[in-house]
Amino acid sequence: MAGLYVHIPFCQGKCPYCDFFSLAGAQHLLPQYSFSLSHHLRQWAQSGKPGESLATVFFGGGTPSLLEPKAVGAVLEEADRLFGLESAAEITLEANPGTLSLEKLHGYRSAGVNRLSLGVQSFAAENLSFLGRLHRPGDIKESIIWARRAGFDNLGFDLMFGFYGQTHRAFLGDLQRAVDLAPQHLSLYGLTVEAGTPFAELEKGGRLLVGTDEKWAAMFREADDFLGHHGFCHYEISNYAQPGRDCRHNLVYWRRLPYIGIGAGAHSFFASGWGERWAAPDDLGHYFSRLAEGENPSLRLEGFSREQAMRETLYLGLRTAEGVSEADFQNHFGSGVAAAFPRALQHLGKNVHKEEGRWRMTLEGWLIYDHLIQEFF
Ligand code: SF4
Repeated sequence: MAGLYVHIPFCQGKCPYCDFFSLAGAQHLLPQYSFSLSHHLRQWAQSGKPGESLATVFFGGGTPSLLEPKAVGAVLEEADRLFGLESAAEITLEANPGTLSLEKLHGYRSAGVNRLSLGVQSFAAENLSFLGRLHRPGDIKESIIWARRAGFDNLGFDLMFGFYGQTHRAFLGDLQRAVDLAPQHLSLYGLTVEAGTPFAELEKGGRLLVGTDEKWAAMFREADDFLGHHGFCHYEISNYAQPGRDCRHNLVYWRRLPYIGIGAGAHSFFASGWGERWAAPDDLGHYFSRLAEGENPSLRLEGFSREQAMRETLYLGLRTAEGVSEADFQNHFGSGVAAAFPRALQHLGKNVHKEEGRWRMTLEGWLIYDHLIQEFF
């Protein structure tokens, strides 16, 4: 089983906190880009990778909902022809409210998309303006109604939290509104200020944008508690799902399973040896010219050593509630987790524990995951 990630690096505007590879005002390139995606797929097929059928496809960005349904369908048809799309494949498209219509959603559904991930961010108008988002609360409601009408029964919302001035009440209000709309999946992301973004400039000028660590931690615990009471499983640091509705594509990443990436800036991973990572240039000119020369724009970035692969297995696995199986680790690497990382485990203390043969991080451990995980490096 393998995954396919399709990167769509186009947005209507650039959000002031965003450091993803996405371009505003370049939508005129979308037709050429859509056409290139199928070329990129054919380059992968010629190289014999991933050598397995596809169980998940994820159109991410950027704003994939700027793609016409026809273009989405063309990528899926080509992927099926070249690699085989499993009949129960999970096919997700990220969409921003304000870029959708009922007709478009019907089109995506007919093209084969069966999971929609909506970039809601907040249901409050003042938060959306603070975050520089182009949509308004009314667009969110409309998109959800249309999505259901078009036949989507697997909906996810992205929400943001932890920004300066956001009260606990407002945060709980967002969670309540989300739960009232009965999504199958919720992703909660704390606002961070990334170098090179307009928010970083504002911060340099003394503007407060992010709340304190204490506030962030309190909101993280509140969300776990609130969503747990509403039937959601906290299955990864930032992700919650109704039972059986985990995002299978993201599990491919966290389980270190193979996936191919197409599109400028897309990464790929193959399990050969101890694993190898590939990346396509995050530069449209370069991307188009590689394809025009008949080359695969994705180049091999790194091959993992056994030790690096062991670290990454833990680093990714401990993000998830399923954790890391001691038996699988032992079978794959010929060494148990405790034998491979005795000092790291000692330093992590009770933030990591082994139960029924699996290593897991506690909720309190997840709160300081970035800090704790350094112990493995
Ligand atoms: S819509 Fe998403 S990808 Fe595009 S600029 Fe905003 S945060 Fe970045």
